[in-house]
Amino acid sequence: MSEPTFTKRVFSGIQPSGGLTLGNYLGAVKRFVEMQAEDYETIYCMVDLHAITVPQEPKKLAHNTRELCAFFIASGIDPEKSILFNQSQVPEHTQLGWIFNCVARMGWMNRMTQFKDKAGKNRENASVGLFSYPALMAADILLYHATHVPVGDDQKQHLELTRDVAAKFNHDFGVEFFPITEPVIQGPATRVMSFRDGSKKMSKSDPSDMSRINMTDDADMIAQKIRKARTDPDALPSEQKGLEGRAEAANLVNIYAALSDQSVDQVLSDVGGKQFSEFKPMLADLAVEKLAPIADEMSRLMQDTHEIDAILARGAERARGVAAPILKRTYEIVGMVGA
Ligand code: ATP
Ligand code: MG
Repeated sequence: MSEPTFTKRVFSGIQPSGGLTLGNYLGAVKRFVEMQAEDYETIYCMVDLHAITVPQEPKKLAHNTRELCAFFIASGIDPEKSILFNQSQVPEHTQLGWIFNCVARMGWMNRMTQFKDKAGKNRENASVGLFSYPALMAADILLYHATHVPVGDDQKQHLELTRDVAAKFNHDFGVEFFPITEPVIQGPATRVMSFRDGSKKMSKSDPSDMSRINMTDDADMIAQKIRKARTDPDALPSEQKGLEGRAEAANLVNIYAALSDQSVDQVLSDVGGKQFSEFKPMLADLAVEKLAPIADEMSRLMQDTHEIDAILARGAERARGVAAPILKRTYEIVGMVGA
């Protein structure tokens, strides 16, 4: 049997689990927009079913899902070019998710560091969904036979599990049905760090609002957070090597590079030798220039949620057009009567 060829197709998702951060923008959505302009079919999803693996207030969840849709569009995702939808409107995700719960092994799930981080000390009280989440994530991706998945660095382990699920399914059933997906973890800001602690990822769930830039922060707030970001007393180096062991300094330079579409070395060749007192205002100006238009467009879009809901419904319909035949074929392979 010849190897099947898969269409170059991108899938990625973001949870509507609360405010959106600069980490979500630089690690994920900015890359989504770039890939939309390249030679891929692109499918982007608000993964609301993942968000409920931890408690969510229903009205807030609905608001966050619509706001996330506004964020995608304001950042440059075109709902005509890309398929844009929320996960729960396409029931095939959970259907394939169940099959993959039966493919993935307990041992694989036990190794997932995100579960350990999110469950914290009280593991007995974590939801079963939080534990089995990576099986649903594998389904999100493989339901579309996606070949490429752009994500931040923190999702690497889950993507490896997705590859393991595809390989085990193909092997167990003697087929070449699911592609072995390529993670796309690229650019200078695949892991944006907290402004308070350079060893922790910038996160919407950090109790300190000063630790992150929210996509809805105004210009003054952005400037204030950058001014107060933790750094060290040394000047900036003129080469990347000089950032070793300086996590906070490296983080600000990485953010500058990503926002200005330059490499870290290009940035350092310009700003090497400067003190943070000089570099921080440069970074604040750049961040405001790039982020303020996104925040403005998000708030404009949120004034008419009917339009957002219509975009999501249409996106879900298009997504089902791709997903339904792949799920049907999966059921046939597994031996489900009437598939
Ligand atoms: P949660 O805390 O609820 O998990 P999150 O901010 O991690 O929220 P996700 O929906 O889990 O959001 O992730 C969405 C995308 O954003 C993923 O591709 C993830 O890798 C990326 N991402 C999240 N935080 C960062 C960060 N600090 N730096 C770079 N990428 C990030
Ligand atoms: Mg996350």
